[in-house]
Amino acid sequence: MTKILHRTIGTNLPRAVAGEGIYITDREGRSYIDGSGGAAVSCLGHNHPEVLEAMSAQMARIAYAHTSFFTTDVAEELAERLVALAPKGLDYVYLVSGGSEAVEAALKMARQYYVEIGQSQRRHIIARRQSYHGNTIGALATGGNEWRRAQFKPILPETHHVSPCYAYRDLQPGETSEAYAERLAVELEAKIVELGADEVMAFVAEPVVGATLGAVGPVADYFKRIREICDKYGILLILDEVMCGMGRTGTIFAMEQEGIVPDLVTIAKGLGGGFQPIGAVLLSEKIYRAFADGSGLFQHGHTYIGHPVAAAAASKVVEILNRPELMTNVIKMGDQLQAGLDEALGQSPHVGDIRGSGLLRGIEIVSDRDTKQPFDPALKIHARIKKEAMQRGLMCYPMGGTIDGKNGDHVLLAPPYIIKPDQIDAIVERLAAAINSAVGG
Ligand code: PLP
Repeated sequence: MTKILHRTIGTNLPRAVAGEGIYITDREGRSYIDGSGGAAVSCLGHNHPEVLEAMSAQMARIAYAHTSFFTTDVAEELAERLVALAPKGLDYVYLVSGGSEAVEAALKMARQYYVEIGQSQRRHIIARRQSYHGNTIGALATGGNEWRRAQFKPILPETHHVSPCYAYRDLQPGETSEAYAERLAVELEAKIVELGADEVMAFVAEPVVGATLGAVGPVADYFKRIREICDKYGILLILDEVMCGMGRTGTIFAMEQEGIVPDLVTIAKGLGGGFQPIGAVLLSEKIYRAFADGSGLFQHGHTYIGHPVAAAAASKVVEILNRPELMTNVIKMGDQLQAGLDEALGQSPHVGDIRGSGLLRGIEIVSDRDTKQPFDPALKIHARIKKEAMQRGLMCYPMGGTIDGKNGDHVLLAPPYIIKPDQIDAIVERLAAAINSAVGG
């Protein structure tokens, strides 16, 4: 009887009526642990009083002022806070309303940068297979998730993809992680040369692959080699931290753990913590200068960029994220989550890999642990796990198509950073029961 075109038609979704801490309550009074923060969004849990207060204070002052007429204190403050926390070299901020918008803006910045500096022949985007960068046309084209792209392919702009860094499946027997990183670097370099080194504009990657692979981080040195190759050919490196950024992996930016600085980085999700839809692109001085000294503008914009209430929420979220006890908790609770999952599921014949960092963890489901054979996709194991988990009062984020867009299943966990030890135990217990029930184990 709904008038909404829901994501899936005909499912009987529970109605969320309240949220508090790590819990969401539905109309029937059932309570769910938000073990995935929705989709890695609710980093501070629900109804955080300080964020609500910052939003209502801003609403009482002014809720909206178009950015072609005004800037606001909250938007300026947010940008200053982000730049202060970002690795050195990311000096300016462009505000948008979500992750896909951030990726679109970053792609357009890359293109305009080359136009401004007189290299307008640069147009190719290289990204990785089994990645997700959003659902708008440019972002979808950039992402390498075959399932999401398939029916829209005829209308997607041309993009190019290389292999992800996915050690669980792609590290060859006897290959060291250094050799693996080098193999992937060589593949990227070959693709650049094939396309014409002076025609490639940007390489785009998630430091930790979220929704598509399930919390897959790189092997050591991978991103260092990628940065070197981008520098060698004068190509911009865009890191997509929409999911893995804003403290999710235990550092404010995931890239800090790789020791590299990109030219552009996209953030969203945890930036607004779900209190407001907001995203951002952080850009280097080099790109800003090219615009400032060139046309004097970035030829882009949406009605709601820099929205004051969203900026107020995000500014408060970022201030809270920067309190030392919060990242300490992400690391501590992340370790406990990994240990708990290892203990409960590590020996399961249907669990191939348990991975991730901080409070972004993934569990890859297999039909045979030794051969890493996935389940028949027709069984929709991921959908069964989601259902079983919801029945047990747990929100988790399972996906299918882990390996190639069709085969493979994984579950992603991304609970709020305020989570406590007994709540981690409850997630592990409910998830293990849900997985065992779904795979018939
Ligand atoms: N990039 C990454 C890495 C994401 O995980 C997502 C969403 O899951 C997006 C971009 C798109 O963000 P949004 O759904 O806010 O448009």
